[in-house]
Amino acid sequence: MVNKKQYRSLKKELDEQNVKLVAVSKTHDVNTINEVYDLGQKIFGENKAQEMAEKYPQLPSDIEWHFIGHLQRNKVKAIAPFVQMIESVDRLKLAKEIEKEARKNDRIINCLIQVHIAEDETKYGLSPNELDSLVSSFLNDDYKHLRICGLMGIATLTHDRDKILEEFKGLRNQFDRLKQEYFANEDYFRELSMGMTSDYDLAIQAGSTMVRVGSYIFGARNYQG
Ligand SMILES: *Cc1c(COP(=O)(O)O)cnc(C)c1O
Repeated sequence: MVNKKQYRSLKKELDEQNVKLVAVSKTHDVNTINEVYDLGQKIFGENKAQEMAEKYPQLPSDIEWHFIGHLQRNKVKAIAPFVQMIESVDRLKLAKEIEKEARKNDRIINCLIQVHIAEDETKYGLSPNELDSLVSSFLNDDYKHLRICGLMGIATLTHDRDKILEEFKGLRNQFDRLKQEYFANEDYFRELSMGMTSDYDLAIQAGSTMVRVGSYIFGARNYQG
């Protein structure tokens, strides 16, 4: 069930700090998403390509869809005609596929590079060492339909808030460094997506520009998605 009161107070808090809100609607049906849309929310996040592609035509066309999950290359085609941002680019082959499908659709797809900041080995994302080589390949090849707008990261699932804050600060440092080294003159490199229901306050403290919040708005999910 949508928690309208919590949505409103969260949105207000984020607006005051100039932080964007991605409402993570995975597992929730279109009626529920519409309820949140009616509160004024425009950006929604999904982590499965099929699910997103099914919801998209049933919902208002001014919604900005952000893809936030692990993306297989053969699924890019399903979301390329409409997705606004893919937050989880973690390998060059995926970037190439996004470029190809965006070109076919004659549009530009905004992307974030997902960086692995958590202790948890099962999480996706590039290690900080791999980051530079991915970014340089981007800049050397000619990507006309894919725009690297910043970084995304997921902290370790832990109650140790100091640890989470350190991980977020580490990602902030990577972001600042890349900005300086590679994108100093590019105003589109400006998004740092970090923070979810349990840790968005710490993420903002560390300099997040975009939080991805699901259960705080929509209530608990039936499965973890
Ligand atoms: C599900 C999910 C979220 C939102 O999680 P909540 O704890 O429900 O806020 C954020 N980011 C990613 C990548 C997710 O998969």
